[in-house]
Amino acid sequence: MKAHDGMYIDGAWRPAAGRDAIEVVNPADEQVIATVPAGTAEDVDAAVRAARAALPGWAATPPAERAARLTALRDVLVARKDEIAETVTAELGSPLAFSQAVHAGVPIAVAGSYADLAATYAFEEKVGNSTVHHEPVGVVGAITPWNYPLHQIVAKAAPALAAGCTIVLKPAEDTPLTAQLFAEAAHEAGIPAGVLNLVTGLGPVAGQALAEHPDVDLVSFTGSTAVGRRIGATAGAAVKRVALELGGKSANVILPSADLARAVNVGVANVMSNSGQTCSAWTRMLVHRDQYDEAVELAATAAAKYGDRIGPVVNAKQRARVRGYIEKGIAEGARLVAGGPEAPCEKGYFVSPTVFADVTPDMTVAQEEIFGPVLSILRYDDEDDALRIANGTVYGLAGAVWAADETEAVAFARRMDTGQVDINGGRFNPLAPFGGYKQSGVGRELGAHGLTEYLQTKSLQF
Ligand code: NAD
Repeated sequence: MKAHDGMYIDGAWRPAAGRDAIEVVNPADEQVIATVPAGTAEDVDAAVRAARAALPGWAATPPAERAARLTALRDVLVARKDEIAETVTAELGSPLAFSQAVHAGVPIAVAGSYADLAATYAFEEKVGNSTVHHEPVGVVGAITPWNYPLHQIVAKAAPALAAGCTIVLKPAEDTPLTAQLFAEAAHEAGIPAGVLNLVTGLGPVAGQALAEHPDVDLVSFTGSTAVGRRIGATAGAAVKRVALELGGKSANVILPSADLARAVNVGVANVMSNSGQTCSAWTRMLVHRDQYDEAVELAATAAAKYGDRIGPVVNAKQRARVRGYIEKGIAEGARLVAGGPEAPCEKGYFVSPTVFADVTPDMTVAQEEIFGPVLSILRYDDEDDALRIANGTVYGLAGAVWAADETEAVAFARRMDTGQVDINGGRFNPLAPFGGYKQSGVGRELGAHGLTEYLQTKSLQF
């Protein structure tokens, strides 16, 4: 795999300040496929200085020109989509068809949506005797996870660019090659020097240096709640803006009137997709007690069909963590109906698609984010009981409701403490705001709501 031996700072690939490197491993066969430099606070500082220097010019660039650069960026992503998919498959392990459709496809849609928004958004508005200007927040420190390597980057970089902000990106250590490819694409698209900068490196070193840097105006973080909490505290102490997209433990609520087989099959597919490494996955399936046994049987059959068709999880640590949760589920009395903790093959960080029945709301597998292909099926007595269980975690990122009548599903969804709900299998919408209630985060990404995270208002009175 192609890898740069440097950082992309101020429009060029420059040698890293230190000599440490990160090995990139293919999770499907455990082979080292590349190394990239592990950045230090010195690299981060150089990148932030470049972003600061580029800010006045980019902020003053007319929105139509920013839109043109974003259109060019989208076009480069389209032209290089096969390379993107192959790179994501190599460093994340997801099956190639999924990488093509989702890991390459979704960022193209999101980049395109921000090209449109940059061209059409009202960056200036009249409010009574005032003119309100929506101005860029400034220098953005973007810290991203590995689970959707390019999507997580584009969901921050595209709105930041549309708003007129400049960016220092610190991607996840497991998937730096996709991030390097993105920096190349930005360069090819004519994004001016210093507007987008990339520092690869470890979270507690490069990530922390970026989050703590006094010249960063907004830290936009996607990752675990544990790290997000620290970043939020650091930003709070510095009175600095912060956006946090954190963990989830979403509920898939199947009301008694729903098409049970469809709801269960789509629910299982949702959890197994990307090997369960999706923050918004519906990892808790809630089924009425009268339909419970039938749902469990359907889910077990559906999960067994996935077999080795799902990819590995990202690394050995993640595999050990997921297996640990499966063992804990068994120890706490959940009934294993598919999969289990044993390794399904000798090489690669694979975990069997796993389904637990007889899960009660207080069990660890029903409360904590596992981030692997593990589904818990819970039983409810009536709608109020279902709502109590659905809302009964510290998270509130996503969810699903199924019912014969859409109005019935919507009424239930409106009572859920969560940022988005798919009604009867509703499709992902790249323009709809994405983000969490409760400990799933602060702020929203995607669409116009995502753009406003990178803008601040200035009111002029006349
Ligand atoms: P993580 O928190 O370990 O890492 C995320 C990023 O933060 C990485 O780039 C990492 O290098 C960096 N980081 C780690 N420690 C840091 C520190 N002390 N200071 C600054 N940066 C640091 O998370 P992960 O394991 O890479 O990703 C999985 C998590 O991300 C899951 O909890 C998942 O739910 C969450 N996630 C949330 C969303 C969302 O939109 N809400 C989307 C995807 C993933």
